[in-house]
Amino acid sequence: MSSVFYRSNKTYPTAVRGEGVYLWDAQGKRYLDAASGALVANLGHGNERVARALAEQARTLPFVHGSQFTSEAYERYAARLAALMPRAGYRFWAVSGGSEATESALKLARQYHLERGERSRYRVISRKPSYHGASLGALAASGMGARREIYRPLMQEDAFPKIAKPDPRKDGAEDARQLEALILELGPETVACFIAEPVGGASDPALTPAPGYWTEIRRICDRYGVLFVADEVMCGLGRAGLPLASLEEPAAVPDIVVLGKGLAAGYAPLAGLLASPEIYAAVMGGSGAFKHGFTYAGHPVCLAAGDAVLDILLEERLFERSAQLGARLLRGLTELMARFEFILEVRGQGLMLGMVLGDPATGEAFETPGLAERIGRAAFESGLITYPGSGALDGYRGDHLLLGPPLNTRDDEAEELLGLLEGALRRVAPQVG
Ligand code: PLP
Repeated sequence: MSSVFYRSNKTYPTAVRGEGVYLWDAQGKRYLDAASGALVANLGHGNERVARALAEQARTLPFVHGSQFTSEAYERYAARLAALMPRAGYRFWAVSGGSEATESALKLARQYHLERGERSRYRVISRKPSYHGASLGALAASGMGARREIYRPLMQEDAFPKIAKPDPRKDGAEDARQLEALILELGPETVACFIAEPVGGASDPALTPAPGYWTEIRRICDRYGVLFVADEVMCGLGRAGLPLASLEEPAAVPDIVVLGKGLAAGYAPLAGLLASPEIYAAVMGGSGAFKHGFTYAGHPVCLAAGDAVLDILLEERLFERSAQLGARLLRGLTELMARFEFILEVRGQGLMLGMVLGDPATGEAFETPGLAERIGRAAFESGLITYPGSGALDGYRGDHLLLGPPLNTRDDEAEELLGLLEGALRRVAPQVG
């Protein structure tokens, strides 16, 4: 009998090996990983160069505690990430996972205002639906009713107000002004930050607003002294077809960028945040330290893995590859939409690709959720890993399928992906409706 604390009583195959876009289980079955796990394994599996970088760092300096030392690995990687920002002076704070990174961003936003003597600013405005993490602060900021419901008594709801998700059919700037309306209603002097995913992820796959939205968000945040936090845990570092998705509108540079998932491409747990020079200066000129920390923050082995991943992303031009292959796959998904009427919408930005599923008669979600799960299961049985999502969420009801293969997926593998997906859709189609 297993001693693992499983998620449910379903049986999980035992994964034994990974190479490129493929995984194998103990029975020898091969899976094409079209979800990169959960949009994490951005370089695919079994990359020797990253594995060697990890081993080398573990031999030389496996661990130091952040209260005592910095490390060459931390200094080098932080400088490279900060160089992605269009302005000099951003500072990197490394942690182990996306939720820790969001949690850190929310606490840093609050501390920034305290350092400046604005003690009344504590509220975190976010959108619904959205997903920012599973720890209590990150979950409170997440507009995902189903995941938050049982923890409500542990959350201070008043601190986490929400606006609606963007509607790409609206004027971008006008759509953004719901943030201004809420800031004014709450009182700007109570608001610490606004957090949002530049490209929708687990809660609303590949959703992007109309042009001008982010520029207006930036303007509103500036006008009311609110920090703009971009949660790029899923869409950052090439996944959305550019180094950072939040830099698509040049006038909308965030104060804090939250990163995770693909940073070390699954070879080690690595996440973190980039904080603006103004935030850093406020902390350094005030109390002198970010009042926050985790034991494993700034882990040299994880940072060495991130560094090797970044080398490969740049050398193999994988940001560009993500955009180009994403466009090809989006065309393939659009063709599938024409064949299967329960695919209501397909979306994509780089290699973040989404299918919205529902009732073709109403154009809305089916009354009973579960279609995405059924397609996901049929795909898994035939050796294709997808990332289905469903359930009643704040501001969103329905089923969707998120796809995000590794950034270095080959053309023939992408064709195989589309073929396997079509097979799964065909098998499920007769029971839909
Ligand atoms: N933020 C976003 C946008 C995410 O997609 C996720 C995870 O899916 C998180 C935060 C939380 O990251 P983690 O699961 O690594 O804690």
